[in-house]
Amino acid sequence: MKQHETTLILVKPDAVAQGLTGEVLQRLEKNGFKILNCRMLRLTPALLQEHYAHLASLPFFPEIETFMASGPVVAVALSGENAITRVRELLGPTDSTKAPKGTIRGDLGKDKMHNVLHASDSAEAAQAELKRFFGSTDPKV
Ligand code: ADP
Repeated sequence: MKQHETTLILVKPDAVAQGLTGEVLQRLEKNGFKILNCRMLRLTPALLQEHYAHLASLPFFPEIETFMASGPVVAVALSGENAITRVRELLGPTDSTKAPKGTIRGDLGKDKMHNVLHASDSAEAAQAELKRFFGSTDPKV
């Protein structure tokens, strides 16, 4: 079923530092997704705890925190048909070394942690994450 959705993506610090923001956004725009809003920020410890609460008990959580706070990220509200599922498909699985060629992580990612992009994984997550980063589930400028 076709459904118009808005999802939240974060271009991760290593991808921003490598100058990959433009390529990532171009791939998404070429697939028909529209940028509704966009901002660059540094993730604070409080924001990270909230954003990765589902991983907080894992042994490598401190490494994720260090990595995600190592430089600015680019947060984007992206809209389009079935945006939540489709963007995750274009992104590929978490482990970049296992992500198929042609996916963003398969082509541009390094490993499990350094995997270019975060994207909301459900409608509930998208709503919470859009509010977290833009203060609204429909953050039109
Ligand atoms: P995804 O980003 O694909 O939705 P998760 O929500 O499970 O994956 O994990 C959030 C982020 O934490 C991942 O994108 C990755 O940067 C990091 N991460 C997850 N699992 C591992 C792991 N086993 N080793 C290192 N980093 C990991």
